[in-house]
Amino acid sequence: MKMNSLKNIFRPTMPMSKNILFKPDELISNSQKLMLELGLIRQSANGLYHLLPLAQRSLDKLICIINKNMMDIGAQKISMPVLIQSSLWKKSGRLSKNMEDLYIVKDRKNKEFLLSPTHEEVVTNLFSSDPKTYKQLPLMLYQIGTKFRDEIRPKLGIIRSREFLMKDLYSFDKDEVNAVDTYNKICQAYENIFKQIGVKFIKDVFNLTIVEGSSGMMGGSQSHEFHYPSEVGDDTLLLCNNCGFGMNKEVSSDLIKCLKCSSTNIECTKAIEVGHTFLLGTFYSKALSAKYLDSDGTSKPPYMGSYGLGVSRIIGASVECLSTQEIIQWPKSLSPFTVCIIPAKEGSIEERISENNLFTLYNNLTEIFGEDIVVDDRTHMTIGKRFIEAKKLGFPFVIIVGKKVTESPSLYELYKSSTKKSEHFEFGSLIDILKKQCNQQNT
Ligand SMILES: [Zn+2]
Repeated sequence: MKMNSLKNIFRPTMPMSKNILFKPDELISNSQKLMLELGLIRQSANGLYHLLPLAQRSLDKLICIINKNMMDIGAQKISMPVLIQSSLWKKSGRLSKNMEDLYIVKDRKNKEFLLSPTHEEVVTNLFSSDPKTYKQLPLMLYQIGTKFRDEIRPKLGIIRSREFLMKDLYSFDKDEVNAVDTYNKICQAYENIFKQIGVKFIKDVFNLTIVEGSSGMMGGSQSHEFHYPSEVGDDTLLLCNNCGFGMNKEVSSDLIKCLKCSSTNIECTKAIEVGHTFLLGTFYSKALSAKYLDSDGTSKPPYMGSYGLGVSRIIGASVECLSTQEIIQWPKSLSPFTVCIIPAKEGSIEERISENNLFTLYNNLTEIFGEDIVVDDRTHMTIGKRFIEAKKLGFPFVIIVGKKVTESPSLYELYKSSTKKSEHFEFGSLIDILKKQCNQQNT
């Protein structure tokens, strides 16, 4: 069996002070510092980051959660080109409005393209490229792909970078009533995704004209956001302490009474936006002449919605919300590995037994955690040094095969990042406890 080896994982670590030049006024957040120092990400240029293998594993786990939830509601995954003909954005009128945030490139024939910040125009154009009838609706198409924004001040590492990974979903419905249904279904799926990630989130209203639950004002203006509360966030939310209703301060800066329960117990919170949903109405379908054939034989513009998740941002923001200055804490769902095993140091008395038991240990853990286990096989380093790093990297479980394996029966040390505590166990109880933990996690 091939074991995942920490020694072999590409992880250029770096003391921040020496290798990175930050402008004096630049805010360095905990997640940015830790992810750089521990070799999870690396800066390529200002606001541009490499995601290295450990961060990539975390990202892949998030993508799995997203895909699963999208499959559950019947959304279909596609990939659209990153290069967008700017003529499409001229049709919607967005080109002139967003010029300074856009990367614009030209091909050899001098034709102009955008590096995609979002795909409403492109997906609407795709929709209209082929005749549709009402029977094919609702249609939900999504992708997980690279997006670009020429930020004036990129910051916080992968939380606010100039190139990032987004999950963007677009819905097409035959009328407003159906579009609202689809909108609610997708918002629910997004809530499920955030619950499965496990970091405390806030779903808040972005559009003041809509009060959740009121039936009167539906249609082309519903919008919600998903936020992670954090001091380093750029958004300010107004939160009702009584019923949990939240609203972006951008929308209403002088809210004194909760719109849902009329409570005046309202609190201001800084937060990072990690998702945004819009009910678009027929704006893009009309601008790009997208139509479907309705049951009455007439052609009509479909009602659309657009729904974004900041995929790479969720990784950075999760780390930001849970970690301390010194130690990464992952939500268990996104930890690059669930278990890290630290075998004995080479040349130690316990080395032989440790080596002999490692295979059985790894094998038994594989039955519980699949391939979600890594061995810190840098056995030239002391256990203590490797343990410090394993704690910093935030693996939910660390198993140390130290001196006590020479006892009879052998004892293994189990450290849990959730409690920050270590205990010693015999082999059988160790496996039982981890099995229990794994089951709890999956329910
Ligand atoms: Zn309230």
